[in-house]
Amino acid sequence: MAKTKRIGVLTSGGDSQGMNACLETIITMAERNGYEVVAFIGGYSGLLYDRYRLVSSQEASLYFSFGGSFISSGRCPEFMESESRKKAKHVYDKHKLEALIVLGGDGSIKGANDLIFQGMNVIVCPCTIDNDVYCTNRSIGFDTAVNNAVNAIDNIKQTMRTNGRILIAETMGRNCGEIAMQAGICSEADIIMIPENKQTTEKIIREVGKQLKVGNVSPVVVLTEHQVDIQSLAKELESTYQKECKAIVIGYVQRGGSPTVQDKLLAVRMGVYAMNAVLEKNFGNVVALVKNEIKLIPFEKAIKAKYVFDNELWQTFLNLKRYKTEKKQK
Ligand code: ADP
Repeated sequence: MAKTKRIGVLTSGGDSQGMNACLETIITMAERNGYEVVAFIGGYSGLLYDRYRLVSSQEASLYFSFGGSFISSGRCPEFMESESRKKAKHVYDKHKLEALIVLGGDGSIKGANDLIFQGMNVIVCPCTIDNDVYCTNRSIGFDTAVNNAVNAIDNIKQTMRTNGRILIAETMGRNCGEIAMQAGICSEADIIMIPENKQTTEKIIREVGKQLKVGNVSPVVVLTEHQVDIQSLAKELESTYQKECKAIVIGYVQRGGSPTVQDKLLAVRMGVYAMNAVLEKNFGNVVALVKNEIKLIPFEKAIKAKYVFDNELWQTFLNLKRYKTEKKQK
């Protein structure tokens, strides 16, 4: 018997590891319940310009363990205009979709919320390496990004130590310091600079000086992007301490590679939940992880959710750092 029920899927904004695992889960669950799956290519622009193809769980399973998105992701600035979203509704109707599942970050949730007002049935699975979707404790891709950053910093540290150089490592994260904080702690950084705890360049230089004074030949500074010009900071450190300093942008290494087990598990859990939300007609929600339970959070609430900085983890880092520095001093 021909399948008649259809849902749409798309991946929007910056890609994150685990998007493919989440897609595979959604498509498998959809097929199991008698749905065909229409994938819109390259994010909201695929929906707007009707660029699509039918996808199967067989195809999706080839990509389960890969980073990126096999249906392509991207940004669509035109989507900010309500005329565009009206056009998108025509495409949605043309394909006779019962629902659309969007995989993306905070911007994509705002876009999804606007689609609800056009009369579409939408669910979002939070996918971003930055962990800045505040209604969920963790977004799909964050854990892999942190692990990749730690591996990169650990690798660079080995050669820095051998040559007695100072290292400045810049992570992604936009306005959210979680990647830098967690990667910094796990790569034993001496100094961490995050937007939630802004520090002056002078303070960073002083802190590096303290490390050198207690015999740390190769201090490590980890910081979130967009705070300081790290090349200038490196030059200042070199001239202040007459010591070589390397400033490295960890960059796209954080976005690449296979998702970690934690990201795959989250992607699978959220994918199942998203498809169940479609079956139960619970539209207009973000699938979120709250205290290790998967829940649905309405778009309006998700958009207004406030960032809760993990101050306990931050204080743990500061206390450990203080203790280690004092120990070296003795
Ligand atoms: P992310 O979802 O990863 O945060 P973006 O912020 O770039 O990535 O958003 C992805 C896309 O979502 C944008 O290109 C745009 O199409 C759509 N979008 C973002 N913000 C809005 C908004 N306020 N209203 C409508 N659509 C939006």
